[in-house]
Amino acid sequence: MELKKTGINTLCTHYGELEDPLYKGAVSPLYMSTSYAFEDVEVKRYPRYFNTPNQVALAKKIAALEHSEAALIFGSGMAAVSTAMLAFLSAGDHVVLQKTLYGGTYNFVVEELERFGIAYTFTKGLAPNDFEAALQDNTKVIYIETPSNPLLTITDLKAVGTMAKKAGIVSMIDNTFASPVNQNPADFGIDVIIHSATKYMGGHSDICAGAVTASQAHIDQVFRLAKNFGGSLSDYTVWLLERSIKTMGIRVKAQNENAMKMATYLEGHPEVSKVYYPGLKSHPDHALAAAQMSGFGGMLSFELKEGLDASAFQKALQLIKPSMSLAGIESTLLSPTLTSHALLTPEERKHQGIADGLIRFSVGIEEVEALQSDIDQAIKSLL
Ligand SMILES: *Cc1c(COP(=O)(O)O)cnc(C)c1O
Repeated sequence: MELKKTGINTLCTHYGELEDPLYKGAVSPLYMSTSYAFEDVEVKRYPRYFNTPNQVALAKKIAALEHSEAALIFGSGMAAVSTAMLAFLSAGDHVVLQKTLYGGTYNFVVEELERFGIAYTFTKGLAPNDFEAALQDNTKVIYIETPSNPLLTITDLKAVGTMAKKAGIVSMIDNTFASPVNQNPADFGIDVIIHSATKYMGGHSDICAGAVTASQAHIDQVFRLAKNFGGSLSDYTVWLLERSIKTMGIRVKAQNENAMKMATYLEGHPEVSKVYYPGLKSHPDHALAAAQMSGFGGMLSFELKEGLDASAFQKALQLIKPSMSLAGIESTLLSPTLTSHALLTPEERKHQGIADGLIRFSVGIEEVEALQSDIDQAIKSLL
């Protein structure tokens, strides 16, 4: 049977798995060796060369999930982001970056690129012509993130992919928020796909990892830098991540469904003034999201009515955990003003559309009725 043509759940469960010829175990055996006998002088197996048996097996699975030829697994999402970006940028080059990026990626760009002699421009907006306008003669990479954090804006994958190909440069996406279950940017011509596997791939808030998928030629270029930077993932965690991904299809679909129900519920709540979710018809990019995503994801944001205190709201929750990360099977939420965007001035936050009452909600797999009544009782306690 050709596994690749089966479907997301079969790919998640089986693709790339290692056989256990000795004991016929049901799951991939775990090889913790850091030293391997030479098969021939050419093949040197070593964890930092990203080619231990478990790394190679998991890379195959993740590449297949992203409709890509090859993949590398990293020790964190930021190891994947920084290695991928620097693999295609040298002194004198320029990179165009989407204006709304994950905070860690933004920090990497503004704190590190300049001293490598790499120039950068953040786009003014998210429309294709905003990217076009930022291109320069020395631009080598366009870097996007969709849906974005925390307002779930959507960037046109096909427009960016086509633009990059025409300009002869590399397009990159951070596909963490969508996960490969909901969005496969390779199908729209995006070259390099990055994941914080700490999020939906891990899915249980207990693994820190990253991944890059692309054509074999692009992965070879990332690998050249990756082996020198040394950001590989421990084989034990590789093995745990393989186990987690087995359930990613059903987890993420359950989260999609819950998020849609929660978004609809919150849109009708009298104490909520705004809901940002690409699955809602009221979302300005709903049509674009529907065209390029197969599900709308488990992330949404909403604004509490003016006067309702975001901090007190969080403290009043009994089930949903206020916490920093996202994408676990348990529901979590945070106030960007108090956490991820706390260092911005109130004017900068306003400019980015981040209200004081904004709550970013990572919807889990709990019964949706339980999530609704938790939010409702927390809001009522403020009135
Ligand atoms: C968490 C996250 C990252 C960084 O991943 P780490 O595993 O924390 O290094 C990058 N991009 C997005 C969108 C994220 O949510």
